[in-house]
Amino acid sequence: MSSHKIAVIGGDGIGPEVVEAGVKVLEALTGAEPGLAFDFKRFDWGSDYYRGNGRMMPRDGLDQLKAFDAIYFGSVGDPDLRDDITLWGLRLAICQGFDQYANVRPTRLLPGLTGPLRPELGRQIDWVIVRENSEGEYAGAGGRVHRGLPIEVGLDVAIFTRTGIERIARFACDLASSRTRKLLTVVTKSNAQRHGMVLWDDVVREVICDYPGLTVDWMLVDAMTQRMVNKPDSIDTVLATNLHADILSDLAAALGGSLGIGATSNIDPSRRHPSMFEPIHGSAFDIAGKGIANPIGSFWTASLMLDHLGEVAAAHRLMVAIEAVTDRAEFLSPDLGGTASTAAVTAAVIGALGFNEPPKNRRRAV
Ligand code: ATP
Repeated sequence: MSSHKIAVIGGDGIGPEVVEAGVKVLEALTGAEPGLAFDFKRFDWGSDYYRGNGRMMPRDGLDQLKAFDAIYFGSVGDPDLRDDITLWGLRLAICQGFDQYANVRPTRLLPGLTGPLRPELGRQIDWVIVRENSEGEYAGAGGRVHRGLPIEVGLDVAIFTRTGIERIARFACDLASSRTRKLLTVVTKSNAQRHGMVLWDDVVREVICDYPGLTVDWMLVDAMTQRMVNKPDSIDTVLATNLHADILSDLAAALGGSLGIGATSNIDPSRRHPSMFEPIHGSAFDIAGKGIANPIGSFWTASLMLDHLGEVAAAHRLMVAIEAVTDRAEFLSPDLGGTASTAAVTAAVIGALGFNEPPKNRRRAV
């Protein structure tokens, strides 16, 4: 029996709380799934580490992580530190250093939850957003000139490469093809951005030709926000650039009920480097240390990680348990209108791991 080697980085705020809850659930899952085993190693990197060491992670941080099968991440961000220190020093340093170019974010309204849409519309949400995660508007290219003078200039250059577009388009087409509806929506803004986004359109169009079994439609990003709200059933898999997908997936999270529920994976599809799995919420310092953070996003994250590790049965069992718990009002945390603590939700999910009836809804991680 081989153990999956998991690097655990709790990070800041509620990150360590929800990730430790997730580790408890994963450990309990080994009792339910024969042959499943984990070897967890914790890393205390993040904003407190920065205060002590002047860096978010050690200089050789990526070297320390590269031997792991996956990274289970909490959140990063600190009210007293700038995001360009915290985010770029840890989360983005790992995503970019390990070429985790595919960010995948599933959204569904889990049983028992009500989002802001009318129930008949909310229940139609079953999407997966594929975000280009290595370049585009987050490439970090640009600069500031004439600092402090009236003529000061700030410049951010979005970078789109043929290779970068082609590989994410292929990933999205493969993922869309693996889902029941085989429906892909490509998001663009080439009416306004006449260079990079036109290259995006051209290259995606070329890749799509290799997938005759897919139904593909195109949306401008602004119109896409309306479609997500008004016609959720018309959407399945979505491909978008780094910035567009960032914005659309926050909208998706809100429509899915709470920031505390969503999960995301940062994948290196070549598998040369470990991929990283994290809840979508941030460090939420307003509730840190109070024991009320919703750990469901962290559990869904764990299910995505299991899927990636090839532990499909365990991923499914965990999703079944999560959905059994969200369906019970007494186990909803305060962000969902309930009173359950992080520990109570965790215990409930652990208790439900044995419960594996045939799904009435889909229980895929993605
Ligand atoms: P960051 O700057 O790290 O993104 P933030 O506090 O600005 O952090 P989030 O952490 O994403 O943003 O959270 C926004 C709000 O949503 C929080 O203030 C918190 O009240 C709520 N929230 C986020 N995650 C959870 C969670 N897991 N459980 C309960 N509430 C949450």
